[in-house]
Amino acid sequence: MTCPNCLHIDRRALLGLLGLGVAGVLAGCDAHPRGAATAADRLHADSHPAPTTAPAATQVRPSVAAPATIPPPAPGPSQVFWQGPPAAVTARQVAITIDDGFCAECADAYAALAQATGIHLTFNPNGCYGSIWTPLAKTLKPLIEAGQVQIGNHTFNHWWLTELSDSQVTGQLEQNEEWIQQTYGITARPWWRPPFGSHDERTDELAASLGYTNVLMWNGSYGDSSLLRPRELLALAREYLHPGVVMLGHANYPPSPSFPADRRDLRVPWPASSHP
Ligand SMILES: [Zn+2]
Repeated sequence: MTCPNCLHIDRRALLGLLGLGVAGVLAGCDAHPRGAATAADRLHADSHPAPTTAPAATQVRPSVAAPATIPPPAPGPSQVFWQGPPAAVTARQVAITIDDGFCAECADAYAALAQATGIHLTFNPNGCYGSIWTPLAKTLKPLIEAGQVQIGNHTFNHWWLTELSDSQVTGQLEQNEEWIQQTYGITARPWWRPPFGSHDERTDELAASLGYTNVLMWNGSYGDSSLLRPRELLALAREYLHPGVVMLGHANYPPSPSFPADRRDLRVPWPASSHP
């Protein structure tokens, strides 16, 4: 395992996780697929269950006090991140970012993988899947506190933000922020990822006004917004998983959690650095 440009695979983690059963669990989120991703659009796809129409109104929710350790929002100019900084390339770092999470076995497997291997992961869960992600708080909290795991805001319901009103956009981010705070005791600010990668100047300015100044996009993908076979997953990993890449993955279908995880070659702390 000395080839610096080769992709190394943690086969124990791979084999240990491939036995997962398929069990897509929908937990209160909209579940109307807009269309399966094709090979051509896999890189840009983040197409988990989605609504066919915009919601009628932002949900009203009770006000809950934030944990005392969470800093207040710091609004500012918005910046879009498609890849890691040059230093990440030099250091052979990649960012593994895992979105959504309607597969309980997948979310469990990712959390277990992080705990067992020390790999850095950025999760972008939707609060509408709280029945899956909230029970993982006990496992994830120590990893978050250690800076190994980062939580990004992927909105509460995973709707197309560019189709929503201003108040609905901010409501989606605020509702998920509130869920993240109450579940994990931290803020996801300043990092957020638009569902489906759907964002524009308006949504970015609205997010930035809430302290979500960093829009986390991606320039590599496991293509797992639809169910893939392990060899397809690994082929896409080999294609895109290079130093400096921000990889898009999902906790929606096995065998996604079996992604390559060899830390001797590619290290994964970017951008998992906003939570000390
Ligand atoms: Zn998503």
